Amino acid sequence: MTRTASYRALALRVRPSGEHREAEFLTAEEGIVRATVFGGPKSHLRSHVAPFHSGTLWIYRDPVKDTRRVNDFDVVSWRPGLRELYERAETAAAIAGLVLESRGGGGAFAAALELVRESLDALETADELCCPRILVRFMWNWAGALGQRPSLERCSSCACEPRDDEVLWFIRGEGLLCGDCARRTAAASGHYAGPALGAGARRWLRAVTNGGSVSRVSLDAASLAEAETLVRALIGLSGA
Ligand SMILES: [Zn+2]
Repeated sequence: MTRTASYRALALRVRPSGEHREAEFLTAEEGIVRATVFGGPKSHLRSHVAPFHSGTLWIYRDPVKDTRRVNDFDVVSWRPGLRELYERAETAAAIAGLVLESRGGGGAFAAALELVRESLDALETADELCCPRILVRFMWNWAGALGQRPSLERCSSCACEPRDDEVLWFIRGEGLLCGDCARRTAAASGHYAGPALGAGARRWLRAVTNGGSVSRVSLDAASLAEAETLVRALIGLSGA
């Protein structure tokens, strides 16, 4: 059995642990991988293993103690731009938190890694206005990776094709419903239907599905808020 394995990896979080550090990576091969980083403040490894760096990672596993340590990390993308603006750093940390919470995605780890890499690359040059849009776009596509993304084109209940200007309603366990179905479902269950997804938010979500630019389709503040409420509900971040 080989004790050293290599991964295509992105560092998500690094925390002090005694005199060493514990790092969490998203890898294309195994999803989330945790390993100890040995070395003092000036060591080469310590500067390489930092959040949002990505490249090729070598991990040594001790089969007896069942511990893992980082042997080397050949960083290809350093993403220094993420540290230049508060909003970028906050958004990147939010993305990392989501990825860790959902254990690296639904199992298609290579696609998950690509999605995270692409979002962080977009974030590197984003201004304050674009950062929240990149986060919402990430959550929308992450919900897709987790198999939790409803269709924007058809009512999840009656399968009708809503008009372009029609408001859709998200109901947990049902999906995105047309007005008629939302009313019927809400009346039957006694629960409020929502959140609502207006035409502007729907158009924008359609444009950013699978990585389209966040600026290709215009988005007003109300539509951004609708899209954000929906994606948070989809990935279980709120009680919606
Ligand atoms: Zn319907």
